[in-house]
Amino acid sequence: MESIKTTYGETKAGGVTTRTSSLLVNNSKSDAGNIKSSVPYGCDYQHRQQAEQRRSASWSLMVRALSNSTDKQDKKEAEQLMSCRGYVSKVTMPNGKTTMRTFARSCNHRFCPYCEKRTREEVKASLVVMSNKAVQEYDPAKYKYMWVTLTLDPSKKGVPTDSRERLSFLRKKGTAYLNRKEIKSLVLGSYNKIETGTFSNDNDHHHIHSLMLCDSSIHQSTVRTLQANWSWGHSKVKVWNVENETSEASLEMSKPTLSRYMGKVSMGTAGVSEEKLLRTIQAYRGRRIRWSTGVFRQYIAEGKDMSYEEELEQKTLPTREEDPEPVEPIGCDKLPDGNYSPLMLLNHITSNTRYSKYAKYMLSYYDWSLRETRRIRLEDRLQGIDTHYH
Ligand SMILES: [Zn+2]
Repeated sequence: MESIKTTYGETKAGGVTTRTSSLLVNNSKSDAGNIKSSVPYGCDYQHRQQAEQRRSASWSLMVRALSNSTDKQDKKEAEQLMSCRGYVSKVTMPNGKTTMRTFARSCNHRFCPYCEKRTREEVKASLVVMSNKAVQEYDPAKYKYMWVTLTLDPSKKGVPTDSRERLSFLRKKGTAYLNRKEIKSLVLGSYNKIETGTFSNDNDHHHIHSLMLCDSSIHQSTVRTLQANWSWGHSKVKVWNVENETSEASLEMSKPTLSRYMGKVSMGTAGVSEEKLLRTIQAYRGRRIRWSTGVFRQYIAEGKDMSYEEELEQKTLPTREEDPEPVEPIGCDKLPDGNYSPLMLLNHITSNTRYSKYAKYMLSYYDWSLRETRRIRLEDRLQGIDTHYH
């Protein structure tokens, strides 16, 4: 087949580095969320401001698109998104003392740019479990990860034009592909995810990313078989070394569904129209877009029992002793009483207004108080208290 493109990666040490760095570059260019997660709080205000601006732009466009629609469900989702907020509130008490309060609520909308960090971490945690188990049970010298991308060619007969129908078509064909005898006999397990990119405002570029665990002794022919069995568009296969690439794989896999797309949304006019965004959100409504097969499915199910996420959080979250409550600075201009979102504070900091120092304090208070909430929640969980934090 002439239309098939192949990226055939060797797994030499040098090659691994190149692929890893290109993955990271791709992420930071297209995905605001990742910039935030790769830069520790308070370290790089400018990056964080840019990420917040992108988030805010995507969020606004989404709210606008959904609330301008006449559809009931669209309006409901607009309200859901609007309930998502995080700010720190400053109040001066009658005795002159300042009190700070943080308010944070996640809306959990599938495409909410503010909530995506959480989703990303959950996915990452289950993928880490998955790849750790794979390395334990399958000798990395003998097994390889295949990173397979399956796209749809709109000019092929049978590929629907309508975004929602096309998404459903892709999901069905993807499942059928993984169930083919030729594929099943090669793939021990797969983790799959549908993503949407965008070329123009007329079309949604839905595609599947699949991470497959395969026997490496047959990998030359494996690549050919993986490609030849997909007839609906392009198929791209990269060969990854199980041992070295697991974290990169989970990074890539945990990227939000619309990350590339949202990159364009946040760039404004040139990117994505309101109509297009609405169409895409509607296309995804009620659809399951992540699924796994074989041993990966089994590992993920086992990982859930282990509540690996909490374990991970315990490891990464600083203790109270390491992370004391920020102290209000003295001898600088205080911001007036009121509610401040992280973006408002970052704007003061990066444009170096007279409130810059105080804004840094308020932002660090905001971050600290969110970590504190997580510490409390974790403690409660560990003590077996059934609490319902949002
Ligand atoms: Zn949200």
